[in-house]
Amino acid sequence: MSLGTVFKSQKEILGEMKSVYEKTFGGSYRAFFAPGRVNMIGEHTDYNGGHVFPCALSFGTYALAAKRDDRKVRLASLNIRGGEVFEGSLDDLVYHEDGGWTNYPMGVLWAFEETGRKLPSGVDILYFGNIPAGSGLSSSASLEVLTGLVLRELFGFEDVSQEDLATLGQMAENQFVGMNCGIMDQYASAMGQKDHAIYLDTNTLKKEYAPFVLKDAKIVITNSGVKHQLASSEYNTRRAECEKAVEKISSVKPVSTLGELTTKEFEKVKDVLKDETLLRRARHAVTENARTLEAYDALLKGDVETFGKLMNESHTSLEKDYEVSCPEVDFLVHEAWKLPGVIGSRITGGGFGGCTVSIVKNEHIENFMEVLQKKYKEKFGLDAEFYIADPGDGAHEIRID
Ligand code: ADP
Ligand code: MG
Repeated sequence: MSLGTVFKSQKEILGEMKSVYEKTFGGSYRAFFAPGRVNMIGEHTDYNGGHVFPCALSFGTYALAAKRDDRKVRLASLNIRGGEVFEGSLDDLVYHEDGGWTNYPMGVLWAFEETGRKLPSGVDILYFGNIPAGSGLSSSASLEVLTGLVLRELFGFEDVSQEDLATLGQMAENQFVGMNCGIMDQYASAMGQKDHAIYLDTNTLKKEYAPFVLKDAKIVITNSGVKHQLASSEYNTRRAECEKAVEKISSVKPVSTLGELTTKEFEKVKDVLKDETLLRRARHAVTENARTLEAYDALLKGDVETFGKLMNESHTSLEKDYEVSCPEVDFLVHEAWKLPGVIGSRITGGGFGGCTVSIVKNEHIENFMEVLQKKYKEKFGLDAEFYIADPGDGAHEIRID
């Protein structure tokens, strides 16, 4: 039997959610979906004005939802304490220390109101997600984008574009939850396209969709099972370090983000940084952006080998310069590099645990999973999980009859 994770079908998931919704909230409802994402290359470049290259996944978060007649907000998730109901209010859209996961959706309600989109009434929402949470596949972004979609569709906010769903979700995560993430995760969840990756300039939000169905290979995601618990504070530290580097560099060259610098330009100005840590952080942001441009070109030319080589270099830079990996993930990547049929492999997502993404030739995928699983278990006593990724569509309503 294959080690690849097989997810329940949409029909099965909606069937299970329907029976819980009817018991919990009752009445009629509509159904929505927002995917997780995997980033192929361009990591930690999105808050540095660089390029990213993610795909939306075919798995993600589902919601059944309806508007209410009063100002109550009732939220439940089948992933959390068996769907225990949280009851909030439109009159209390503030961060709650003990609010846990509900801060993500409440943050989106807050972002709508904060941008002048007053919510006419409360909502009931039941969620269920099949993205492993805290693994770098952006379950949080999918929850935010999904909540924005629910609000747009239930209340008819026609001015809210798919792109706005991404920026409203990011606003919730940055300003309400307090995680200073860039735009990539929410953007991929809102804007994904089946069989394509999104080549996005995070400075201008100019995007190109690139076909990402490989002839004789697939994207294989490996979950280390290590949750990125430290990520939020470390992430904010990296962001502050990059801002500091920009400040220093701008004393000799006018730049407002590291993404504006080519590798050559960076070499000329880097001495002004005078701090080994800042130098390495900035070098990652600059070289990773350059690698992403190169990887996009390589993919368009059908040169998957070069794409894979750039993925490997990206990993080394994240491991050594940006220092956002961990021993378990490094092990999975280093072992993957030794296996037959592996075109490229790297850590993906924010880091400090989570997943790796690899491109593996079809005929070697089973062996890849078996060998990595065995070696990982021997070394760390942990089970690696595998998902064969199918680039999917961005957030959308699901018609139910
Ligand atoms: P990632 O986005 O990489 O999966 P985060 O730590 O950013 O990891 O977000 C994970 C958090 O998002 C969870 O701890 C939980 O609070 C929230 N979350 C994600 N998916 C769901 C869900 N289906 N139901 C409830 N909460 C969720
Ligand atoms: Mg997240």
